[in-house]
Amino acid sequence: MRIVLLGAPGSGKGTQAKLIVDKLNIPHISTGDLLRGAIAAKTPLGLAAKEVMDKGDLVSDEIVLGMLKDRLNQDDANNGFILDGFPRNVTQAAMLEDLLAELAMQLDHALLIQVDPDEVVARIAKRAEIEGRADDTETVVRNRLNVYKEQTAPVADFYKNQDILTEVLGKGSIEDVQARIQAILRF
Ligand code: AMP
Repeated sequence: MRIVLLGAPGSGKGTQAKLIVDKLNIPHISTGDLLRGAIAAKTPLGLAAKEVMDKGDLVSDEIVLGMLKDRLNQDDANNGFILDGFPRNVTQAAMLEDLLAELAMQLDHALLIQVDPDEVVARIAKRAEIEGRADDTETVVRNRLNVYKEQTAPVADFYKNQDILTEVLGKGSIEDVQARIQAILRF
């Protein structure tokens, strides 16, 4: 199964993706994690990306697509994957379509986790305490939410037009949301 997980920062995408992966045995591919890996490894790409990420802006489409391409070419992605954090804008959605066509693959589901904005801010504040991410500070979070609204939210329409979008209510416990996702994916 090939799944794209959409939702605002703090909507619980990462948490839900990990639970889906446990059940379906497909890799969780998070472009944010790939970028943080490059930063930790101090690669030139990581160093360039860090400045952009620390401001809450989007890293260039070409850089992220290159990383994603390498990851999708690994064997464990042959039978499916769950994409978290990509596509982040409509250009990336079109790039993903081309890339998957090259690999003779197609998406089965795009899930959009819907959470109200106050809830998102509270969740990120909690995550900041636990993980200490550089981009979880208040000013940066505000920018990330703006970037989401302006650039990422339109991606939902892209998948709606392809008839593969399903909205998932992100309210309630982690288990509640996971149960809704499992009902949609039927596993
Ligand atoms: P995330 O872990 O998905 O919240 O991503 C953290 C940061 O990494 C974002 O705020 C962006 O700066 C960068 N990032 C992650 N995925 C992408 C992407 N698909 N395109 C551009 N930038 C990205």
